[in-house]
Amino acid sequence: MQIMFEAHCTVEEYVKQGKNFPFPKAPGRCTNPKCRMAVKMKKHGFYERYHIKAGF
Ligand SMILES: [Zn+2]
Repeated sequence: MQIMFEAHCTVEEYVKQGKNFPFPKAPGRCTNPKCRMAVKMKKHGFYERYHIKAGF
């Protein structure tokens, strides 16, 4: 599962923070709206991302 979020900073700031970036917490419930079971989800890792900029 991937959680989409907005970084609210520049790409340079995001890259500089790397793994130390304040990523969103893992949800405490299943994200399926028909389920919503309380389950402790675990973050499994970090990977590099691409940046798409308008006009580039
Ligand atoms: Zn579920």
